[in-house]
Amino acid sequence: MAIVSAKEFIQAARENGYAVGGFNTNNLEWTQAILRAAEAKKAPILIQTSIGAEKYMGGYKTVFNLINNLCNFMGITVPIAIHLDHGDYEAAKEVIEIGYTSLMFDGSHLPTEENFKKTREIVKLAHAKGMSVEAEVGSIGGEEDGVVGEGELAPIDDAVEMIKTGVDFLAAGIGNIHGTYPKNWKGLHLDHLKKLSEAVDKIAGYKFPIVLHGGSCIPDDQIREAIKYGVAKVNVNTEVQLAFHQATREFVLSNEDLKGKNYDPRKFLKPGVNAIQSAVEERIDVFDSANKA
Ligand SMILES: [Zn+2]
Repeated sequence: MAIVSAKEFIQAARENGYAVGGFNTNNLEWTQAILRAAEAKKAPILIQTSIGAEKYMGGYKTVFNLINNLCNFMGITVPIAIHLDHGDYEAAKEVIEIGYTSLMFDGSHLPTEENFKKTREIVKLAHAKGMSVEAEVGSIGGEEDGVVGEGELAPIDDAVEMIKTGVDFLAAGIGNIHGTYPKNWKGLHLDHLKKLSEAVDKIAGYKFPIVLHGGSCIPDDQIREAIKYGVAKVNVNTEVQLAFHQATREFVLSNEDLKGKNYDPRKFLKPGVNAIQSAVEERIDVFDSANKA
């Protein structure tokens, strides 16, 4: 069984100066491609879905069973966490029941005190089942499932308070954005990350893992710097979508799709699916989590 909580492997990443990828999935082929990449690279990963993707795919139970069954069928040996991305209170409770191994409770849009309170409740329920929990302070820029954030810098005091709820890793805004980045983007605020990371380490009493959301399309050197300063999980969604789209587009525009039996969905989707796998493997290399399983 390869399905585990993310707590230990993210902690190991933080202590040893690399990061693991949290890869969002969308369907059967997407999930297979991510799993193939993780196994090929011998890398621990999280496969995650937003609430929108869960609905698209047929609900939490479908997603849970899909990942679980594929891991068995494909003989996956590397640690895989089944993670809820940006869950609200109801979604978090539902995946705790179903048996996910990790979840993010995103109360960043709530009043700060309520975010702490609800996070504490979710942590208690999730930890009782051995699940890891991610929470968020500040808001992350861009759009996710219709919610548009401005991309503020997470207040350090809020981050420190959030550590006290017992969360296992923390998403904190440092100028990162969901989706593609605008041309005038000013880059990650690494100085802020460094200060925040030092403050939370002090409270936690160990090197505490920070999560970088909107990890797609950030220059690799900035990601590597962020890992040095405490990031141990990087979320990747848009970049893999772009890789799938680009490969599929090339396949069609070159008229390759008209040849032979390429109308067969197994063949038609193949270039795109292979591109997903390559993109995930490439990210794993940048995060330096290959051969860490
Ligand atoms: Zn996010």
